[in-house]
Formats: sequence, C-alpha cells, structure tokens
Amino acid sequence: MVKKIEIAVFSGDGIGPEITDPTVKILQNLSDRASSYALTFTDAPAGAAHYQKTGESLPAASLEAARRADAILLSAMGLPNVRYPDGTEISPQIELRKLLTLFAGLRPVTVRADQKTPLNIPEGKEIDFVLVRESTEGLFHTQGCGEVTDNEARETLLITRDISEKLFRFTFDLAHQRKKSGRGPGRVTCVDKANVFRAFAFFREMFNAEAAKHPSLTADHAYVDATALWMVQKPWDFDVLVTENMFGDILSDLGAGLMGGLGLAPSADIGLEHAVFQPCHGSAPDIAGQGIANPFAMILSAAMMLDWLGLQNNNSEMRADGERLREAVENVVASGRVLTQDLGGTAGTQEAAAAVEAQLHREES
Ligand code: ATP
Repeated sequence: MVKKIEIAVFSGDGIGPEITDPTVKILQNLSDRASSYALTFTDAPAGAAHYQKTGESLPAASLEAARRADAILLSAMGLPNVRYPDGTEISPQIELRKLLTLFAGLRPVTVRADQKTPLNIPEGKEIDFVLVRESTEGLFHTQGCGEVTDNEARETLLITRDISEKLFRFTFDLAHQRKKSGRGPGRVTCVDKANVFRAFAFFREMFNAEAAKHPSLTADHAYVDATALWMVQKPWDFDVLVTENMFGDILSDLGAGLMGGLGLAPSADIGLEHAVFQPCHGSAPDIAGQGIANPFAMILSAAMMLDWLGLQNNNSEMRADGERLREAVENVVASGRVLTQDLGGTAGTQEAAAAVEAQLHREES
C-alpha cells in the first residue's frame, strides 16, 4: 500500500522561493522512486510580500492547507521594510507555532569530524546534539503586547504545566529514539535559571517528574549561562537539551554558529497534531534574487520532515530517505567541493542543490 502524504509548502519571502524550489524537487524525486509513500505538495501563499499585495499575511486558505496537511514545509517569511501599522514585522511562522500549538522546537546541532567549524574539536569527537526549544510560551508569551510607558516596560514570562508536561514527554521520547538509533547516549539536560527565578524552579520540578519515568535515560540540569560556555568548550558532551523559548532562541543561534553558520541549521516545530519544518535563518533580503542563497538548511529541514513523517506513519522507507538526504548534505559539505558563498565557496543555490541530488544518486548506485 502506498501511503499518500500531503505537504503544505510556504515558500515565503526573500530567498524563500529560491531555496524552496530545489528542495521540493529533491523531495519529489525521492517520492517518485519510493515504493511505499507518495508526496503531494500544496502551495500556501503567506508572508510579507503577500501582505503587501493583498493586505493578508496568513490567508485563511493557507492556514486551512496547513491544518489539513500531514506536514508543513516552510522557508522563511518577513521583510524588514514591510510592517503592520503598529510597526511590528510580518511573521506568520510565529503565528503558526501558536495557532497549531507547536510547543517543541527542535534545533539539531551536528558537526562531523571532517566539517569546518570555529571550534577545535578533539580527535575522535563529533558534535551531535539536539536543542528542544519550547516555542509557544516562555518570554515570548506577551510578544507584541508588552506594556510600555514613558518610564517602564514589562513583558511576562509564562510557564504552564500543560505545555511543560507535553514538552518534557516529547523530549524524553526523543532521547529514547536517538539512543535506539545509536545517535546519543540517552542523556537529557534541562537548561534553566532555577537558581534565580521561581518560574524555572517550577519548570525543573516538572522536568524531574518526567525524568523519574525514564530510568534508562540520564537526566541532569544546567544553568543557561553555563550551557552557553559548555556549548563552546565541550559541545560533544551534550545529547538532548530542553529549555524555555527565549533561552532556546539564543542558544540555537550559538548552535548554528558551531555548525559554520545559519545556512546549515535546520529546525522543526512540532506539536501533538502538526509540525512545521523550516531552516533557522530568515528571508535574507540582502541576497534575495541573486541565486546565491545556501539551500542546505532548507534541505536538511526537509530531511527532518521525512524522518518525522516516517515515525508518525510507521514507514521505514520515509525514515531511511530522510537519513540518506541528511547524509547527502553532510557529505557535500564535508567534501568542501560545492559550497555556497556563506560557507566560503562560490556555488549558487541551484548548483549546491544539484550536488546534493548527485550525492543521493551516487549513494544509490
Ligand atoms: P529573522 O529575524 O527573520 O530570523 P535575521 O534578521 O536573523 O532574520 P537572516 O535573514 O537570517 O536574518 O539573515 C542574516 C544574515 O545571514 C544575512 O546577511 C543573510 O544574507 C545571511 N543568510 C541567511 N540565510 C542565508 C542563506 N540561506 N544563505 C546565505 N546567507 C544567508
């Protein structure tokens, strides 16, 4: 039986359409060769350019396509010069996180032994950890409606039992999966500031309650400031980290830096019913339209999507294709032959994506 899978595609703003196009082609080719699944793609217009044209940033039809789809593939949205009347930027990707309750933001950080990184990695070590960023509350809770007077500004941090319990359950499940597939020792670290804020002591208490249900995994804690230090000094020691929204926002960019830049950092925002896969970078308007954007983070996000869909649908072929796609990108990057300008090379978007496609076929033969 062939499993039909519908993907809602938000190609977005700036470099968005340039990196979406080759990524969807790669996915279509994998799907054409697959015997147990078939992908279909639905275009979902949204974002700053769409708002400029129509006055709508996230049309009801696009939201409906997202809700209906099995997964959502999103490039980047927002343009600095297109804003709502109150001056805030157009960011339907953040609205989607709240509307679809995508509480678990996955930010994998991987650096293979032969890959370029600003760190000196000791012989025999590789970086391979996942940061799970809570993505619907925390310090983003009052986003857009904080109180500002002449003399004071206030924003509220919100940690709820409901979301935290879901987040920790998801995180420990992820650590089990990684351990099973040989990608981690089964260690979960709660990153907080429980020594200063009661909200984080509450967060930690719920983490400990979930940890107690998983005796085969190691659970520990780290303060966020120390975590930033260790991400530079010994990132190879981490396996799965889980943290609040704003801490996760900051640490995930540090993680992208370890990998050699935003152009290599994929992400997923996952809830109980929906999931969005998108690169960590923005719409990069400074290089849009030039054909030089790095498509690797977008392709790696598509690989995460296949892996997640494979798990959801109990389809090992989709999971294997996700794994092969990730490895193909990693091999292209590690070989250093076809790199985009942000990684120190000269290749354009199409050439870089074609190198991944060629690598996939090389592995097949
Ligand atoms: P946002 O706030 O929407 O995340 P941002 O302000 O952090 O966006 P980006 O759009 O991510 O900014 O761009 C930051 C810098 O990184 C820019 O100079 C941009 O050109 C570069 N950049 C981002 N993505 C890519 C990419 N895929 N390929 C090459 N350069 C990129």
